[in-house]
Amino acid sequence: MTASLPRAAVFAGDEVGRHDTLNSNSASHPTAPADNSFLPGPVLLLGAPGVGKGTQAQLLVTKYGIPQISTGDLLRANKARGTELGLKAQSIMSTGQLVPDAIVNEMVLNRLREKDVERGYILDGYPRTLEQAKFLDETIADPEFLPRLPVIAVSIVASYDQLLQRITGRRICATCKSIYNIYTNPPKVDGICDCEGAPLSQRSDDTEPVFIQRMKTFEEQTAPVIAHYRALGRFEEADGNQDVEAVSAAVEAALFHLRQQATREVGA
Ligand code: AMP
Repeated sequence: MTASLPRAAVFAGDEVGRHDTLNSNSASHPTAPADNSFLPGPVLLLGAPGVGKGTQAQLLVTKYGIPQISTGDLLRANKARGTELGLKAQSIMSTGQLVPDAIVNEMVLNRLREKDVERGYILDGYPRTLEQAKFLDETIADPEFLPRLPVIAVSIVASYDQLLQRITGRRICATCKSIYNIYTNPPKVDGICDCEGAPLSQRSDDTEPVFIQRMKTFEEQTAPVIAHYRALGRFEEADGNQDVEAVSAAVEAALFHLRQQATREVGA
């Protein structure tokens, strides 16, 4: 039905064209002037596999000129540098289990002392446990940490079928890295890249059984964190069943609303 849609990102989770429209470096700084009219503060962005969380995080990074803090990236960087922390985390990460809270918390604490977080930051993959959430809340309540604002959490949600289609329909060109989706953004010729005619392939983990397992892990891990921020009145959902621009608008509306509410609460 969408065969005639343009190659530009069609649905949020397809992440089509992400490599050429968005900077994939999570610590990147914006090239366009950042929007200084809104102080985002600490933002926890949540989203199931395939929902387009990475794309939305990068849009916020660019728009507000704030960094994205991904504990997965920080851990991988430590591993690559061979630090003590990296060595401790290495074996745990290779099994897919969670690294102990104390290790991750300390790493985040150090990151939050850097100057680029002063207007806010996008938290990616942290907090992942209730202990981490409590540690984060207590830490940033200390006036040493800027900006002096509490965490607000936005979860991008899309239907199970939509996510499944995005993941299992994804095809990638090994030559130019273009990403297609056989359901929503197919190539002109089945299995062949439009750009240079190279064959398209499917990532080995883009299958239904792997997707089901990843969804289960995601739900188990995020449930306590969502419950925590929901109970504090600092959680909202954004509809991810739309195109990238509409999801972005929904995410921003949730951020404005939550930030207004949280600011009123702390009497700032
Ligand atoms: P990610 O890139 O976010 O999927 O993280 C990769 C791996 O790093 C995870 O499977 C965990 O082993 C570890 N990790 C990342 N963030 C955390 C966290 N907040 N708490 C515990 N372990 C984490």
